[in-house]
Amino acid sequence: MLIRGGTIVTGAGEQEADILVRDGKVVRVAPGIAGDQDTIDASGLLVLPGVVDPHTHLLLDTGTARTADDFESGSASAAAGGVTTYLEFAPQLKGQTFLQALAARRRLMDGHSHVDYGVHMTIAHLGDGWERDLDALVEAGVTSAKIYTTYRDTIFYADDWTWYRLMERSGGGGLLVQVHAENDAIVEGMTRQLLAAGKRSLRYHGVARPAVAEAEAVARGLLFSRTTGSPVYFVHLSTPEPVALIAQARRDGVQAIAETCPHYLVLDESVYAGPDAARYLMMPPLRGADGQAKLWQYLAGAAIHTIGSDHCGFALRDRLGIDDFSAVSPGIPGVETSLLLLYSFGVTTGRLRLTDVVRLLSEQPARVFGLWPRKGSLMPGADADIVLYDPRPQRRLAASELHSRAGFSPYEGMTVTGRVKTTVVRGRVVYRDGSIVGKPGDGIYQRCDPFDWQRAST
Ligand SMILES: [Zn+2]
Repeated sequence: MLIRGGTIVTGAGEQEADILVRDGKVVRVAPGIAGDQDTIDASGLLVLPGVVDPHTHLLLDTGTARTADDFESGSASAAAGGVTTYLEFAPQLKGQTFLQALAARRRLMDGHSHVDYGVHMTIAHLGDGWERDLDALVEAGVTSAKIYTTYRDTIFYADDWTWYRLMERSGGGGLLVQVHAENDAIVEGMTRQLLAAGKRSLRYHGVARPAVAEAEAVARGLLFSRTTGSPVYFVHLSTPEPVALIAQARRDGVQAIAETCPHYLVLDESVYAGPDAARYLMMPPLRGADGQAKLWQYLAGAAIHTIGSDHCGFALRDRLGIDDFSAVSPGIPGVETSLLLLYSFGVTTGRLRLTDVVRLLSEQPARVFGLWPRKGSLMPGADADIVLYDPRPQRRLAASELHSRAGFSPYEGMTVTGRVKTTVVRGRVVYRDGSIVGKPGDGIYQRCDPFDWQRAST
């Protein structure tokens, strides 16, 4: 395959060049490559490394609710959004070893995905012999695991003792601990207080989970990291304050990494007072618009390292008629819109350069999670995971154009710029001009290399 005449963008810069692909790999990037290969005309288009989404929940079953998206629809949505690899969570259910949890997840994933995928573990408890189990997990290519500091009495929650013991060992074992940081006592207490006062409508969703809960749990995680020497990664940060704490800790030598999500950059808490509040229920909640400028600055200044969609495709219909913030399963679809939103609201406004977008959406996630340079890169030898993005068309975004089965988008009606035209995974076109052209099973499991601070922080 020869991709000819486009503007190639990597974290290092932009150039007019062609890309020659053979056997699923990039073999050459240079202007004016000749040949009679299967040619894709990329004139006028941006040619980017495929997006590596480090945070998705496809086919999430919480025990009480299930997402409308499974691996087929969720990965189709990924392909249409220029995502060529996503990292999905394998929940550790009660009594399961890590390897059993991984095997259970792989049975649901393998053969069903349109694009490539890796796995993070979600660790809820440490059973007998967990240390050897952890080594075996890293050996199997799962080199990151998430701890939830909240959602007590669900399949997710891990107490501080579990979290701390895990971090005593994780760094030496090549595992990166990820943290959903919200102080559970604060959000539980606030929720009880609101409900007791009869304040249960969706307009209180954000009030119930104040920013201080997030900042406190991040501070705790930084202390655990400082004490144990193990690295720590904070998912979906919603406000500037925890990012500032992380930046300070890094200056002191703490190995800490910050992720945010597009929704915290382009939506704010004012929507909870409106009639469509059900479209914006995620945790942490949307925050005040006043913090957003700072988040954009942190992205441009590399104080936030990665962007994940936190795609969680619960159907909007499951929320109809439930005007009770404590009774809704939180989560929004987003895997298809990250690149579109970052381009539309970051690049066209001058808040980010194109190279920043590639760094945040492709290079850094691949580096942090041990997929670099196979993924997230267009260097010779890399997998030919490539997105062709047309930066010209403007439209109002409609959920009907998206491929998630959630059936809605929190970005419905927003004016966006550009469009993913073609998505290529290991040299194979999986999406083109609005249509999924690949098949489930085109995507394969990707083993992640053990965590390496040098690689992650370059
Ligand atoms: Zn999540």
